[in-house]
Amino acid sequence: MSAEAFAFCPRCSQPLAERPIADDGGTVLRRACVDDCGFVQWGNPTPAVGALVEHDGEIILARNRAWPEGWFALVTGYLEAREDPKAAVAREVKEELGLEVTEASLIGNYIFERKNEVMLCYHAVAKGTLALGAEIVECRRYKPADLKPWPRATGFAVADWMRSRGLAVEFVDFAAPAKSGA
Ligand SMILES: [Zn+2]
Repeated sequence: MSAEAFAFCPRCSQPLAERPIADDGGTVLRRACVDDCGFVQWGNPTPAVGALVEHDGEIILARNRAWPEGWFALVTGYLEAREDPKAAVAREVKEELGLEVTEASLIGNYIFERKNEVMLCYHAVAKGTLALGAEIVECRRYKPADLKPWPRATGFAVADWMRSRGLAVEFVDFAAPAKSGA
């Protein structure tokens, strides 16, 4: 189960259990309320946006406060209710890098299995002066040809964008976090 799984029914507070639920003419096992109140936890993925930010001809990758040293990736964030994905990209890039997005185009949609998310990834051309927001601890700038995509979710978006530019793609995974005992 994902970390978001409920232990108790959010409607009536009874426990949830795996139960057979009708689906497309058959039944599937889903976590559902034992009290027949009708609640089923479908586990639908959460959409999020990712921005491959281009600034002065270079790509900016960012390290989130929660990530180990050496991990740099796209600027990401969740959509607000009823927010257009392109507007969410502009908002996140402004909040996390202080830059104004002047142009955003969809690269593609990518499944992020570990967090049960679908990442809507955009190439975002931005201008202005870099000013890191609260979630970002550091950034790195790359010539597009020097990017090394990581083999999951937003890394596949980087690879697809590079291929669209005729650039050679070499995947390099993030280094395992250093064991510091901390
Ligand atoms: Zn219930």
